[in-house]
Amino acid sequence: MQTKILPVDKDSLTEAKNIIFSGGVVAIPTETVYGLGANAFDDDAVRKIFQIKGRPNDNPLIAHVHKAYDLSQIVDEIPAYAIKLQQAFLPGPLTLVYPSKNKVSKYVSCGLDTLAVRVPSHEGAQAFLKEVGIPIVAPSANLSRHVSPTSAGHVYDDFNGKIPLVLDGGECVGGIESTVCDCTGEVPVILRPGLITREMIAEVVGACETYVPDLKKGEKVKSPGVLYKHYSPRCKTKLYACEDGENARLTIERELQNGQRVAVLCETNRVSEFERAGVKCLPLGNSQEEMAANLYKLLRAAEGVCDVLIGIEPKEKDGVMIGVLNRLRKACCSEDIAHEKPKN
Ligand code: AMP
Ligand code: MG
Repeated sequence: MQTKILPVDKDSLTEAKNIIFSGGVVAIPTETVYGLGANAFDDDAVRKIFQIKGRPNDNPLIAHVHKAYDLSQIVDEIPAYAIKLQQAFLPGPLTLVYPSKNKVSKYVSCGLDTLAVRVPSHEGAQAFLKEVGIPIVAPSANLSRHVSPTSAGHVYDDFNGKIPLVLDGGECVGGIESTVCDCTGEVPVILRPGLITREMIAEVVGACETYVPDLKKGEKVKSPGVLYKHYSPRCKTKLYACEDGENARLTIERELQNGQRVAVLCETNRVSEFERAGVKCLPLGNSQEEMAANLYKLLRAAEGVCDVLIGIEPKEKDGVMIGVLNRLRKACCSEDIAHEKPKN
């Protein structure tokens, strides 16, 4: 199969629609990362997404809808606080999880009685969702566990020959996946941190919690996707705490002596600390938003320039950085958290 990359226009949208309604998969731009889209009502198309990505079959998908789509067609209940969140943040990088049974393909939510729904703000995504008029499940358009894609070229690198079409909507401005927020209880609960922060949600609805899975109790995890090693570049990675620069420099020295090509991913204002012969510095940026927008681009760039990537955690830990650190730590961890042996 030949994979086309086309700008979003009338012709490419018609082509995308035809592919979707014949059970195929199309990559689409959003303001967070690129998504791999399929018809949420079509069992075979949804299963194809899991197969193409190599996604574990217990990791549910997010349904993407046009801003004028009538949500009552796919969810069973919308609590009052969720309506406030919709009004405050949508279209935008916030996914809301609602009670929902038997409304879309059973493969979408992997057996959960809920459905995650997102209304992206990206113009190209909105144009595509308007064209198809149905909910589109769209996980990030990367091979499972690889770094999420923030450009059409990234999608092509992972799926050339595997999908017919990538709609090119330019570089994603957000850079990390949407905040996922559970709306099935009394108060909203963040399942995955992102650009819409806990503070922003609490300001609108008065309260917001953060979900921490307690694996020791053997409880059923609310959002299985949070457990996997994820977002990882195809090179050896080591992550150091912000204040652990000295140990990072010792490791860089050792890896260089072993003949390894080394790159360092750090805040832009720390580049001079690590710069030296044989070390490539990948500056993350200085503001929280810059760091979110650059993270995946640089993790992918690292694959081309080094054997060992040394990550230095940024200093700030609040706001959007909760999401950035969450991705950075998962990209650099060695095992699935799910596979960790319970600690007694
Ligand atoms: P991705 O599409 O690759 O960005 O991943 C989707 C994320 O949304 C994963 O972390 C999933 O666990 C989460 N998710 C999707 N559907 C649900 C749901 N019904 N309930 C809870 N989390 C969900
Ligand atoms: Mg993903």
